[in-house]
Amino acid sequence: MGTLSCVSTHAGETSEGPRGGSQTGARSNDDSQPRWILTGIGELCTARGSSPRGGAALGAVHTSHGQAIVFEGERIAAIGEEAEILADFGETTAQRFDAEGGLVIPGLVDAHTHPVFLGTREGEFEQRIAGASYLDIAKAGGGIRSSLAGVRGATAAELLGALIPRLDRFLALGTTTIEAKTGYGLTVADEIKGLDVIREAHRNHPVDLVATCLGGHDVPPEFTGRPKDWVEVVAKELWPEAATRAAFADVFTESHVFGLDDSRRLMESARDLGMGLRMHVDQLTSFGGAELAAELGASSADHLEHVTEHGIAALAERGVQPVLCPLVPLYLRETQEAPARAMVAAGLAPALSTDFNPGSCYCMSLFEVMSWGALRYGFSSGEALTAATLNAACTLGLGADRGTLEVGKRADLVITDLPSAKHLTYELGRSPVRHVIKDGRMAWDASSFQPTR
Ligand SMILES: [Zn+2]
Repeated sequence: MGTLSCVSTHAGETSEGPRGGSQTGARSNDDSQPRWILTGIGELCTARGSSPRGGAALGAVHTSHGQAIVFEGERIAAIGEEAEILADFGETTAQRFDAEGGLVIPGLVDAHTHPVFLGTREGEFEQRIAGASYLDIAKAGGGIRSSLAGVRGATAAELLGALIPRLDRFLALGTTTIEAKTGYGLTVADEIKGLDVIREAHRNHPVDLVATCLGGHDVPPEFTGRPKDWVEVVAKELWPEAATRAAFADVFTESHVFGLDDSRRLMESARDLGMGLRMHVDQLTSFGGAELAAELGASSADHLEHVTEHGIAALAERGVQPVLCPLVPLYLRETQEAPARAMVAAGLAPALSTDFNPGSCYCMSLFEVMSWGALRYGFSSGEALTAATLNAACTLGLGADRGTLEVGKRADLVITDLPSAKHLTYELGRSPVRHVIKDGRMAWDASSFQPTR
């Protein structure tokens, strides 16, 4: 896997306790390691460990009551019975923050998003509601291609200006890390522009962004009828420039986009440069994409609505994690759901993601996704939570750093107003997020309806 070049590179930060440094988005490199304690936790629910959880382990979350959490700098220093923690770390009440009896969970990790674009596609949504299919719209020049004009015509500053409010919304919805794809530029210069925007956003916003170059999102209009020529441009010109900016490369493997041979060429050339691999596979047809992702040892195989039993077995054999997006078929008015239960039974360790993008899923809420994971896949609340935290982090190579609430891990967590973890999937249509802690600092306070950076 490639280096996660944009993780933990935020600059110029201060941290002085739960409310400290509220005017900057950042953490410090100084040695002061400010300490504070989260008390008043009603229920604490988290997966444990650093490796992907599949099979019966997917739902084996740890639930406890009356706990307190000690933060030092950007890490969790201790978790234990509140009375014992206060006896050991008491300090002053000024260095405590009260969760007011709410459920506390790890910061959510969204392992599949397309947040770098200008202009929305609500007109296509109306077309689909009136009966057009995703492929009908794509073949008529809509879909991904309709977003190209926005990105190509925009400056980096304009794209950043559109991205930051989206990150505010992710944060407000409890998501503290996102994988962020390019893919709406589809020239070498415009893809690199998108990666630079992602890096800039990562440096200046509390939400961590892990960059993916989606040079294989579509065949650009200039290369219509000759996809192999674009494949060679990506392999020889785009990937070498992207490899220093993005942790991952990605391709849309589908009959109307890139076939298996072109996809293999794109992925192998990225891997040769040290990039990790993510792949959009078997979303609209059974195309053998899962088998290819397994052959290549990809970090994730995403979508998989049409994966076959053979494809599931191939993924299981290589330990490739599925990234499932249950809102997408709903949004596209497709009827085929990913066979998530069969994947879990085969031992696969799925992540749940929004697939936030302007066309096929304009939703940033992983709480919504967890509920749909329950309703459509039969995921328990514990399974949904693991899939939206630890398993998602593992697809990004970050399982040892975040995704659970354990001593030594990054202090990313969400304080909700929910009474228990079972409410995570039970309640639809309202954000239960009261506060978001990112890197040990208060990054979102719902009572002020704005980020505290
Ligand atoms: Zn996608």
